[in-house]
Amino acid sequence: MDSPLPTPHAAQLDLRYPHPHSVEDFQRNLLAVRARIDAACQRVGRDPAGVRLLPVSKTMSEAALRMAYAAGCRELGENKVQEATRKQAAMADLADLRWSIIGHLQTNKARWVAQHAAEFQALDSLRVAQVLDRHLQAAGRQLDVFVQVNTSGEASKYGVTPDDAAAFIQQLDSCPALRVRGLMTLAVLSPDHVQVRACFVLLRRLRDQLRRHVPASVSLDELSMGMSGDYEIAVEEGATVVRVGQAIFGARALPDSHFWPGNPA
Ligand SMILES: *Cc1c(COP(=O)(O)O)cnc(C)c1O
Repeated sequence: MDSPLPTPHAAQLDLRYPHPHSVEDFQRNLLAVRARIDAACQRVGRDPAGVRLLPVSKTMSEAALRMAYAAGCRELGENKVQEATRKQAAMADLADLRWSIIGHLQTNKARWVAQHAAEFQALDSLRVAQVLDRHLQAAGRQLDVFVQVNTSGEASKYGVTPDDAAAFIQQLDSCPALRVRGLMTLAVLSPDHVQVRACFVLLRRLRDQLRRHVPASVSLDELSMGMSGDYEIAVEEGATVVRVGQAIFGARALPDSHFWPGNPA
């Protein structure tokens, strides 16, 4: 089930993220990330229990995922449904492993998400919401969803605009099988911490503002923001979920532009 990735040239890989080769390596990586999350919480007076670490396993091999499981991971984030489908089928023996879909979804892939995913973090289209809702009702399930917001203003990024978020969430009222849990964003991919932090602050303020207007049935508690390069900043700004791949699984061979368009390769 391993995806046929090109063998990366070593120089392409981010040296900050060496590859784990054993369960112990995974445990060490998980503990190191968790310690940094906890330290970020301490800096701003937050309870570390309020931050969930979601390990992101996209492009990684089944062997790596099984080691992560053995190291204690019980949920994994995947960006593409096709890849998640393949991995979930291959690892169906791990019955308590939950799959979180964190990338853009096309309606023709919504059925699998409705049937197998534990949550969907990249909702930004009413059409997708309606198709998901229909499949969920057929399956007799509900699904936790996050509304993806484009906080970087980059035209190529997925997500509703901050201005459209309130109306979008109102419309989701017509999809009773979706449980809106909060907002998700990808910060601008930049070494400039000021710009990155501004994206996270925008998402938190938007959440606080929306909370006062959404229907009582919606609990907008969650803020999914922060990845390997910026999760400590995200935690300082209120993240309740951080989606961390490379700092746990090692560097990816493919540039991020492969997973969401518009970022520099
Ligand atoms: C890949 C991905 C992540 C994790 O990125 P890393 O750099 O591996 O930590 C987070 N969120 C989304 C939507 C992703 O596609």
